[in-house]
Amino acid sequence: MDCIFCKIAAGEIPSNKVYEDDLILAFHDIAPAAPMHVLFIPKAHIAGVREITAENAAVVAHIFSVIPQVANKLGISDYRVVSNNGADAGQTVHHLHFHLLGGATLGGMV
Ligand code: 5GP
Ligand code: ZN
Repeated sequence: MDCIFCKIAAGEIPSNKVYEDDLILAFHDIAPAAPMHVLFIPKAHIAGVREITAENAAVVAHIFSVIPQVANKLGISDYRVVSNNGADAGQTVHHLHFHLLGGATLGGMV
């Protein structure tokens, strides 16, 4: 599958990693929208939130259990976690990811 985040998860495309285990990977966004901008992805391909099911949702809980640890490690106490789904919401990479944004007073939600 021609998926950039699958290639990052497989190590075929380099990334600036901040966390990795068997199931998930977190790495700095290549075009940060805030002073701290990290992406959390499952290593297994899920296209987006719309493709989360009872069968694959455990990895999402795992991501959310790791986000606070990574935020602490990066020294941000206040942050936003968002996921864009579909073109109208601004999704450009069709592999589930959660943006962790922080390091500044953030603007409005949209
Ligand atoms: P989306 O627009 O789908 O919500 O978020 C995709 C994010 O992936 C964007 O913020 C974009 O900057 C980031 N991105 C796209 N390609 C790469 C890449 O090759 N490496 C990294 N680190 N981030 C990427
Ligand atoms: Zn993928």
